[in-house]
Amino acid sequence: QKITIAVDGYSSCGKSTTAKKVAARLGYSYIDTGAMYRAVTLYFHQHLVTLTNDKEVAKALDNIQIEFRRNAHDGRNETYLNGLNVEDEIRKLYIANKVSEVSAIPAVRHAMVAQQRKMGKKKGVVMDGRDIGTVVFPDAELKIFMTADPIIRANRRQIELNERGELVDIEDIIENIKKRDLIDTTRAESPLRKAEDAIEIDTSYMTLDEQVESVCLLSDA
Ligand code: C5P
Repeated sequence: QKITIAVDGYSSCGKSTTAKKVAARLGYSYIDTGAMYRAVTLYFHQHLVTLTNDKEVAKALDNIQIEFRRNAHDGRNETYLNGLNVEDEIRKLYIANKVSEVSAIPAVRHAMVAQQRKMGKKKGVVMDGRDIGTVVFPDAELKIFMTADPIIRANRRQIELNERGELVDIEDIIENIKKRDLIDTTRAESPLRKAEDAIEIDTSYMTLDEQVESVCLLSDA
């Protein structure tokens, strides 16, 4: 029996890496909702959208189409914004520095949540984000809430950015993580919080394999 798995938590706790591997192991599809908010942020940045202008925001949202397409070369899902591959661009720090502000806008959240519900309608999906277990799929059969020590999260993020060719000071990453945590947990519209029935996993001292294993075991329960 296929289920819906919601993986929520703070930035850089290993949500997406784990969720991706769990999906591959179980033969489920994987949806990275953070990528969607990042793509919206990129569009707003490119089109100089004023975040406080409701009309501009609504018009921009009408013009945004986000899709995930499988890369023929290594089978990975990549993010497309209006038909263009933006996978690399949306991972950069200038987007990370803006994304929480954009994600706090109610109209943005409503548009993304509606699309996420459509994308995840069929069981057999692992979706990661901040509000999946609380808002997008409150009936998900398995909800995971990931946490990790902030310094460990910053180190992980630095390695990831390095691998993508962006050399960033650890101080700048720590600042970005702190700022995003603060905005994500205090915004008025669906703030980041652990769903009551979510299972918390602290990944600070876990290997990726251990994280994947523990979620797969729980999915079987
Ligand atoms: O997961 P990732 O770090 O790519 O998410 C980027 C940002 O998008 C988060 O810091 C948060 O502000 C926003 N987000 C959100 N709700 C989600 C997923 C991401 O608000 N479901």
